[in-house]
Amino acid sequence: MKRAVVLLSGGLDSATVLALAKQSGYECHALTIEYGQRHIIEKECAQTVAKTIGVASHKIAHVDLRLFGGSALTDDIDVPKSGTGDGEVPVTYVPARNTVFLSMALAYAEVVGASAIFVGVNAVDYSGYPDCRPEFVTAFQALARVATKATVEGHEVVIEAPLINMGKPEIIRMGIELGVDYGETSSCYDPCESGAPCGECDSCRIRQKAFSDIGETDPRLSFCRELKTTGATLPICEIFDSVQGEGIWAGTPSTFVRVSGCNLRCSWCDTPYASWNPEGSPLSITDIVNQTVHNHVVVTGGEPMMFEAIEDLTKRLKSLGRTVTIETAGTFFRRLPADLVSISPKLANSTPVGEWKARHESRRISIDNLSKLIETYNVQLKFVVDHIHEDFAEIESLIRLLPHVEPGRILVMAQGTDAGSLHQKEREALPHVMERGWRLCPRWHIDLFGHQRGT
Ligand code: SF4
Repeated sequence: MKRAVVLLSGGLDSATVLALAKQSGYECHALTIEYGQRHIIEKECAQTVAKTIGVASHKIAHVDLRLFGGSALTDDIDVPKSGTGDGEVPVTYVPARNTVFLSMALAYAEVVGASAIFVGVNAVDYSGYPDCRPEFVTAFQALARVATKATVEGHEVVIEAPLINMGKPEIIRMGIELGVDYGETSSCYDPCESGAPCGECDSCRIRQKAFSDIGETDPRLSFCRELKTTGATLPICEIFDSVQGEGIWAGTPSTFVRVSGCNLRCSWCDTPYASWNPEGSPLSITDIVNQTVHNHVVVTGGEPMMFEAIEDLTKRLKSLGRTVTIETAGTFFRRLPADLVSISPKLANSTPVGEWKARHESRRISIDNLSKLIETYNVQLKFVVDHIHEDFAEIESLIRLLPHVEPGRILVMAQGTDAGSLHQKEREALPHVMERGWRLCPRWHIDLFGHQRGT
């Protein structure tokens, strides 16, 4: 099978090019380059896109272009939000970036025996970068012919830039036909920490105009709409008082604040009103704080870490001297004033069938974000187990990839929504937990109240 290296930034163009290379019959080897850019969310998007579209390998290379700076993407220069002058190369241009990237792709192509390098440069709807023009690609093609052992021995590597003369609307139309999920891509030069686009930079404006030109809504915006809570509000589906039923602080009287909205769709989700069918409405931080009664406040979901306003909420709670637990699946990272972060990475047993399958599967584990959470916070890792042998094996493989967590902070909670099946699975899990020095995690709200909302 013919092979190609595909430069995959995680943006709209590179995802389209990957889908095109795949459709053209190439075995694709994706290459993502972390160059010190401020829009690092692209790397996570690249990982998701690579999994969804399917690649033979995906390498992430590190080249620190911050060393030189000279760009709003790699230096302390503001990203312009009001367009750039006609004919000017904007400050978002990164000096010689595509020369560096294509050079690395050429090296990788030689190693994997690729006959093509796919790159998503585009000279029509672009920001005016010199290394996105046809003459640049032609010149690099000439260089490639004389640059490597493989090419001088007659194994040509063709630089494929299939989007170079296409307008952005045309690119998107083609990508949609190829099945690209643009909700998984990020093009913004200045996204917020959650990955939501700023909507104002050059790249956002070109992208949004292109979607509107073809009468479509950018799925990235609808994915991120829930992330951007302006005016310090949070979508809340319930606030209630109970005892914490799970984890190392089980039994503590607590106020639960449940944020509505989730980036995952677990097959067995016991709070579908915060994920599959999100309910509730935006509440101001003041209204939320005023409804908290107990010293211990559990901010849960859904996925609370998706929302920027969670930072305001936790700061307000801490300023009032409250103890704050955040419950998260660990797919996002934020710096918050939390006393305990209860991370519940979702195992393969959570993956649903149907249209959410690929998205859930590609998002449910982020080694980067799990590692940062573990290194930053007082954590517990809570795993929901269903199929004992497979699930314990998966937990062990996962924790080998993460920073060390004390065995007593690794909690195993049985899947089940009635006390009978819960206890049966707990009995099955018990010897495996004891053997490893982990903890069996209670699920008191099921034990005490059954599968009931607001408990
Ligand atoms: S992460 Fe939590 S809220 Fe989201 S779907 Fe899974 S169980 Fe439900």
